[in-house]
Amino acid sequence: MNVYFDNAATTPLDSEVLKEMVSVLESKHGNPSSIHSYGRQTKALVEKARKTIAGYLNASPSEIFFTSGGTEADNMAIICTVVDFGIKHIISSPLEHHAVLHSIESLVSRGKVTASHVALKEYGHIDLEDLENQLKKHPGSLVSLMHANNEIGNILPIEEVGELCKKYNAIFHSDTVQSMCHYPIDLQKMNVDFIAASAHKFHGPKGIGFIYVNGKRRISPLIHGGGQERNMRGGTENVAGILGLSKAFEIAQTHMKEHAEHMQAIKNHFMKRLETELKGVEFNGDMKGNSLYTVLNVMLPETDDYEMMLMKLDINGIAASAGSACSSGSNVGSHVIAALGRNIDRRPVIRFSFSKYSTIAEADYCMDVLKSFYAAEPKAAVKEMSAAK
Ligand code: PLP
Repeated sequence: MNVYFDNAATTPLDSEVLKEMVSVLESKHGNPSSIHSYGRQTKALVEKARKTIAGYLNASPSEIFFTSGGTEADNMAIICTVVDFGIKHIISSPLEHHAVLHSIESLVSRGKVTASHVALKEYGHIDLEDLENQLKKHPGSLVSLMHANNEIGNILPIEEVGELCKKYNAIFHSDTVQSMCHYPIDLQKMNVDFIAASAHKFHGPKGIGFIYVNGKRRISPLIHGGGQERNMRGGTENVAGILGLSKAFEIAQTHMKEHAEHMQAIKNHFMKRLETELKGVEFNGDMKGNSLYTVLNVMLPETDDYEMMLMKLDINGIAASAGSACSSGSNVGSHVIAALGRNIDRRPVIRFSFSKYSTIAEADYCMDVLKSFYAAEPKAAVKEMSAAK
């Protein structure tokens, strides 16, 4: 059996999305900036896609700008905010995606800003008291906290953080790459200035995403060129990508509840089997609480093959990951797991992540494979682990 349980890394393209993209590629080749009929046709399609996305998010189409994906959107929000608003301090967390962490690090290393991380609570949730204390110390700073964590699935109370940012006159950017199209996002109810999205996380194409820029904030472009995207992002538009993004967005939004229930059931089933059939299994993040239904981060029992677990799974047809920073299939290097302060000594940390195409039978197959690994290694000790910090 082949099982693809790495959907937080990327999802397979929906066939309806592919159809939409092929149709655009075949019949609409005009440059949206051209004034002739070919250009006007593709321009109209791009604007329709923008309107569709804005509608679902309760935003204005003028607040949506297409980018090459989540990384560019995160970079744009952070770098342009610092440049345009003279930000002196950035508050984020050690659990952010590298698109955020490395953007901040680059600004710090060039002496443009200082930066701090908020403290973490149990299971790696953001400590809002600490955030408020930091905001008191650094009013008017930029706060960058992701809505849902790509490795451990924790969900941020984004409305509460938005309120705190408002109280201390801070600018709020949230990386919504993992929550977009999985949770309803109503931008009128969130005091957020920037969010980032990426189509390939919800069965759209790779290399296309968008940034939402709250109409109250004006920033200058990160990428300079022609006057595309209303002078906010130079470069000829990826028309097929934008149409694919819009189609994937529409499908995901229309079926959100049913897909959520489907994936949550797989996650619950897999967690239950892991806990009851493999002694010593623990989870990273708030797996049973406020957590993405797409992500299951598990710390398996100790084994001699702890560095080879992903490869062994792969040999058995199972694609999973160790998070965003794995090296050679081992679980060494996840900054998120390191930030949780857990002792993972000789214990494989695996992130299984699901999509609408995943099945319970696939979870059962993974379970059988994992059990066979441990059955073949009877000496494998199961250690008592300390609770997550
Ligand atoms: N932010 C998060 C939370 C992600 O999971 C990812 C993708 O791995 C990104 C940003 C980057 O998105 P993209 O691959 O579109 O550049």
